[in-house]
Amino acid sequence: MEAGAGWRAGPGAPGDGRRLYHNRGIRLAQVAPFAELPAGNTITGMQVISLQSGSNGNCIYVEAGGVRLLFDAGISGRQAQLRLAARGRDIADVDALLISHDHSDHARCAGVFQRKFGLPVYATQRTIQAAGAYGGLGAMTDVRCFEAGGGLLFGGVVVETIPTPHDGVDGVAFVVDDGCRRLGILTDLGHVFDRLTPLIQSLDAVVLESNYDPVMLARGTYPEPLKQRIRGPRGHLSNSESAELLCRAASGRLRWACLAHLSAENNTPQTALACHQSVLGSRLPLHVASRYEPSEVLEL
Ligand SMILES: [Zn+2]
Ligand SMILES: [Zn+2]
Repeated sequence: MEAGAGWRAGPGAPGDGRRLYHNRGIRLAQVAPFAELPAGNTITGMQVISLQSGSNGNCIYVEAGGVRLLFDAGISGRQAQLRLAARGRDIADVDALLISHDHSDHARCAGVFQRKFGLPVYATQRTIQAAGAYGGLGAMTDVRCFEAGGGLLFGGVVVETIPTPHDGVDGVAFVVDDGCRRLGILTDLGHVFDRLTPLIQSLDAVVLESNYDPVMLARGTYPEPLKQRIRGPRGHLSNSESAELLCRAASGRLRWACLAHLSAENNTPQTALACHQSVLGSRLPLHVASRYEPSEVLEL
């Protein structure tokens, strides 16, 4: 990628000689020099905060094994900072930003996050290229490219990247694995593709797309091509697709699910919850990620 789109690859770019690891079949690039945890460190568990979720902007904070990560930058730097502070976190402590795909509700403020907070930005090269082509990212001096399907190692935390059939140019979903617990961040999925079932079976908690109610979508005001895109194989999961996937795939280890990326026009939190509860009964604690405010700190 040439620098025409206003960014340049940073020190994690392919071919820079950085050490590669193989672990559980995942190709890992050790991408950041995190310090070892001090002896006696009492950090336990994983904490998750959805700062915002939906087509108006996405950003999720995850803290695990002494590492603090942000997933997607679809909200302003100011809002990310304020919402983290409201949950007792300082954005200055965040170690890295990972971008799932090029759509603006996920990538538009990546440049701001990088410049304002000094965050290295991890994304595939095609994602950064496409997001940059839309304009607005600005100059970025620390972009670290990964390949969709690979894994990234942050200290003792592995982030697996899972290619999706969504209509971003090179989209991925994520699993955060601290060696004890596995969190899925699964939105903008396209459709329920084969790998999702075994993937969810392996998780302890999941943030899962539950985008639309089919009746609301059909009766709503969206133009027909947009309706077709949303319900098509490269769009989003409906409430019932999401609920049936969870019902099929949730194993005994899954402690909670957080329904995410709800449409404002074609869904409501109550509709999504009711659908999931009708399919799942009471077997799983459910949360709903808001389009407008940060979640509580979700623990696992
Ligand atoms: Zn999205
Ligand atoms: Zn998208």
